[in-house]
Amino acid sequence: MTFGKNKIDEFQSLVKNQILVSEDDKYLSDWRGVFKGKTNFVIFPASTKEVSNVVKLASNNEIPIVPQGGNTGLCGGATPDQSGNSILMNLTKLNTIRSIDLIGNTITVEAGCILESIHNEVDKKNKVFPINLAAKGSCTIGGNLATNAGGNNVLKYGSTSDLVLGIEAVLPDGKIINTLTALHKDNTGYALHKLLIGSEGTLAIITAATIKLFQKPKLKLSSFMQVKDIFKSIQLLQYLQSVTGNGIEAFEIMTKPILEIIHKQFPQYNKPFTSIPEMAVLVEFATTSDLDLKKNEAGETIFKNKVIEIMTNTIEKELIEDAVISQSNQQNKDLWEIRESANIAQMQEGFQLKLDISIPISKMAEFWNNTSKDLNKFHSKVKICVFGHLGDGNLHYNLMDISKDHPYVHRNQNLLKDFVYERVKKVGGSFSAEHGIGQLKIKELNKYKDKTSLELMKTIKLSLDPKNILNPGKLFTII
Ligand SMILES: Cc1cc2nc3c(=O)[nH]c(=O)nc-3n(C[C@H](O)[C@H](O)[C@H](O)COP(=O)(O)OP(=O)(O)OC[C@H]3O[C@@H](n4cnc5c(N)ncnc54)[C@H](O)[C@@H]3O)c2cc1C
Repeated sequence: MTFGKNKIDEFQSLVKNQILVSEDDKYLSDWRGVFKGKTNFVIFPASTKEVSNVVKLASNNEIPIVPQGGNTGLCGGATPDQSGNSILMNLTKLNTIRSIDLIGNTITVEAGCILESIHNEVDKKNKVFPINLAAKGSCTIGGNLATNAGGNNVLKYGSTSDLVLGIEAVLPDGKIINTLTALHKDNTGYALHKLLIGSEGTLAIITAATIKLFQKPKLKLSSFMQVKDIFKSIQLLQYLQSVTGNGIEAFEIMTKPILEIIHKQFPQYNKPFTSIPEMAVLVEFATTSDLDLKKNEAGETIFKNKVIEIMTNTIEKELIEDAVISQSNQQNKDLWEIRESANIAQMQEGFQLKLDISIPISKMAEFWNNTSKDLNKFHSKVKICVFGHLGDGNLHYNLMDISKDHPYVHRNQNLLKDFVYERVKKVGGSFSAEHGIGQLKIKELNKYKDKTSLELMKTIKLSLDPKNILNPGKLFTII
């Protein structure tokens, strides 16, 4: 089905911005090109009122709406289905920064604000909003909230859900709920804003949020460290947390196969070591203290000396084999560019089975060793390309073919997925750490989520959205 001119005119009358009637692939397929949907109706509201009016009209006509932010999600959550029955609502024109409170350390932003534009805005005021991911130049804060995005700095600051004080959103009947607040404490019943975080557009369309800001670090230093194995990586994490008073901002892991792919796809990047190590971690240290900026006679800051001392100790304790430390902001950026290119490099390289898992840190080494040993034993054609946020237990445990001439992973996706997910379950982990469910992991949600929790999720969905208007077919199928 496609929408007739009359229906389009009716919606058109509700929004200032144009409605595109288009086959434009940019909006109709997901970032990886795995999911493709249909609609000839893409709508760009620019105010909460417009969102509300469109939702009311859609609800009266029982027309489903698929909310979309920057369309960088990795589970097909923002892609409409193939029926052509739904409206795609792109929120990127709803993008005003409403207010910033430098004393209370909060900012209120509309849902379509690009994450990086929020970073740039608060940077001018010496603040940071610490959700940081490689898609920051395109993803929106609304999408970050709807997927409860994680990223590189969860270790220190928590996920998106830890950083949101209140939300404004449009409910499936078009009513506007406003819980925007600068209060850090507000125990007045259910924390309704939390319900919408991670709801992937199925319960409400988020239009604005008040989020927490932090003091901008005065200095950041990153170190790329070569480690022997996963045991040593975990010991290193514990050591660094203890000597810095839980002060490290990020602790990211990359294994040899992914580093090889990154350097192959981006040969212009400098290699931190002469040869690519079996395993490396990228650690970010930061200070907000002026005292740390004082320089010694050699012109080195106290902070840099502290980091060098810590690094020397890690070598003496045999926690790491070798390390490089960034000597300038540019070098810091260069080291992070390697890590942040992992997704795109892997996509350019060829088919990958992407598994976004989280494992309790205490079980990480057990999971890692047993699973890779078993995978190699039973599926010798599989290359295990791991990278991710080891500091918070989140691994991007991606599987690729050893050789393109013998495609195995694509044909055996379900088998391999089950193989890894069963082991994840055994150690109390999750099959979806930060990317969400979307269309991609509905089967797994059904299989691994506690049954009572899943029933409760469906009950909440149906009581808020009895007509199943908002993002149907995502998270679960409601019959
Ligand atoms: C290179 C790359 C790196 C990435 N790294 C990370 C990472 O480190 N950590 C991480 O967590 N994710 C990561 N992601 C995934 C993705 O960037 C995040 O999920 C991001 O939060 C999605 O934001 P978006 O605006 O692009 O949302 P979209 O992709 O447009 O939508 C995602 C979901 O949110 C819903 N949605 C969007 N906006 C709204 C709204 N205003 N109201 C209600 N629902 C809405 C959509 O319906 C959909 O279900 C990465 C993606 C890429 C491409």
